[in-house]
Amino acid sequence: MEGSIKKTDEQWKDTLTKDQFIVLRQKGTEAPFTGKYYANKEKGTYLCAACGQKLFSSDTKYDSGSGWPSFFKPVSEGKVALKEDNSNFMKRTEVVCSRCGSHLGHVFDDGPAPTGERFCINSVSLDFKKED
Ligand code: FE
Repeated sequence: MEGSIKKTDEQWKDTLTKDQFIVLRQKGTEAPFTGKYYANKEKGTYLCAACGQKLFSSDTKYDSGSGWPSFFKPVSEGKVALKEDNSNFMKRTEVVCSRCGSHLGHVFDDGPAPTGERFCINSVSLDFKKED
């Protein structure tokens, strides 16, 4: 669960690109409509780019118009953890990987049925494994 992978910043820098480090470990946000997955419609599974844990399925991905990959729920329970985020003068809920604690994005309550949730996730935080 959360924190079962713990690394120092120096260790993360060895395995992540600079952009990945900024988003995953320093809670950065990629510019909208620039990521590699927001328009991806292929079938498959989205993994944490930092530790490889399965996070989201293409079955729950939808086009939110936000310019970030959007899902209405995680692939199964316990894969993501939620944290209160009051940075930048906004009250938001941060989404992190439950295994390595890396920042993925935020969740909002304006998503589609059946959950009404919108997991708004940075492409940089994800790796995509295409279904065979
Ligand atoms: Fe992870």
